[in-house]
Amino acid sequence: MTDFFDIDPRLMELARRAEELCRPAFERIGRVEEYNGQKVLSAFLRAGVSEAHLKGTTGYGYDDRGREGLDQVFALIFGAEDALVRHTFVSGTHALATALFGVLRPGDTMVSVTGAPYDTLEETIGIRGENTGSLMDFGVKYRQIELLPDGSPDYEAIAAAAPSARMIYLQRSRGYSLRPSLSVETIGRAARAAKEANPKVIVMVDNCYGELVEEREPTQAGADLIAGSLIKNPGGGIAPTGGYIAGRKDLVELCGYRLTCPGMGKEVGCTLDTLRSMYQGIFFAPTVVASAVRTAVFAAAFYQLLGFGVTPAWDEPRTDIIQSVLTGSPETLCAFCQGIQKGAPVDSFVTPVPWDMPGYDSQVIMAAGAFTMGASIELSADAPLREPYAAWLQGGLTYPTGKAGVILSAQEMLSEGLLKL
Ligand SMILES: *Cc1c(COP(=O)(O)O)cnc(C)c1O
Repeated sequence: MTDFFDIDPRLMELARRAEELCRPAFERIGRVEEYNGQKVLSAFLRAGVSEAHLKGTTGYGYDDRGREGLDQVFALIFGAEDALVRHTFVSGTHALATALFGVLRPGDTMVSVTGAPYDTLEETIGIRGENTGSLMDFGVKYRQIELLPDGSPDYEAIAAAAPSARMIYLQRSRGYSLRPSLSVETIGRAARAAKEANPKVIVMVDNCYGELVEEREPTQAGADLIAGSLIKNPGGGIAPTGGYIAGRKDLVELCGYRLTCPGMGKEVGCTLDTLRSMYQGIFFAPTVVASAVRTAVFAAAFYQLLGFGVTPAWDEPRTDIIQSVLTGSPETLCAFCQGIQKGAPVDSFVTPVPWDMPGYDSQVIMAAGAFTMGASIELSADAPLREPYAAWLQGGLTYPTGKAGVILSAQEMLSEGLLKL
């Protein structure tokens, strides 16, 4: 590292010690990477992916073999009956919203059992904003059950809410909160609690940031429907845009009707020149996700040795790629993000500064220098400027570059006189 960057030798020594601590975690990550790599390969073989699958269609996109094969590959990986993988999902929020509007009907009740959903879904549901065509505008009722103080789901409250609910909704990743992420096992337990009380209830999971971090996915543990973004984990840093929905065949069909129109559903939609990168992305995803998780674990160990609060800790099990570092002050937070930016392959010379962002009640600083605009499977950091001045770090297409970015963030703090060694 010091051949290419100006790093204080004391930081390099801490980085060496951090990596030493991470060794058992890295072994676990390597085992999941290998398992999921083989899982993905076997999906390609079973779907019979051929050269022809990589070439897209135009116009209506009837009989697009590549599109159908890609749906099948994702369904096999997620252990789901069917999937809807499209470059026309503009984001993860769009895929999630398509799933919600696809299956919920006027009078139905959706119950979020992991507290408040991810910020961008508030307007989709109708918690914020009026007469926008939200679920609530269309007569869908919404309720929320908070997580227990220890961060686990309130199984009793879930069982009590399920009989009158059409959908029980969970968010796997912590998103940008400090609550713990939910393991697939915990999601499975919540799904069982709901279904024992109401066998007909639909269990849906926001799977963003969680894909391929564990060997199993929520759809292999009782979830009926999951959705996520292709500029996060399952796009492998290669898919340039898009999202996916996977789950029960009848529900995925309804989502297709919502994405295009009733009657046509997932049988139409041309793929243009997007297929090769989508196939390549999911093929690389197990290894890219493992790189991101290694980067997160390294950051946890390194910043803990530097005396910062981190969550999760380096030795805690992982179910998503998010790492938070509690920097303690606005200056330290800004230096952290500016250091991450200095380690970005694209726009490394840019200095991020805090800014007022729509939808946030405090200023936000973001570090991102990615090949794909906004891709958070690439090394990036976001942070609202408020107590406890936590930075949320995610991504890292490769471990060597992710690790370098993390060390550069500490070097930036040190150069600004904000670190005591
Ligand atoms: C990223 C994310 C989403 C969707 O966000 P987009 O920016 O619309 O892709 C939803 N939920 C969680 C937990 C996320 O991390």
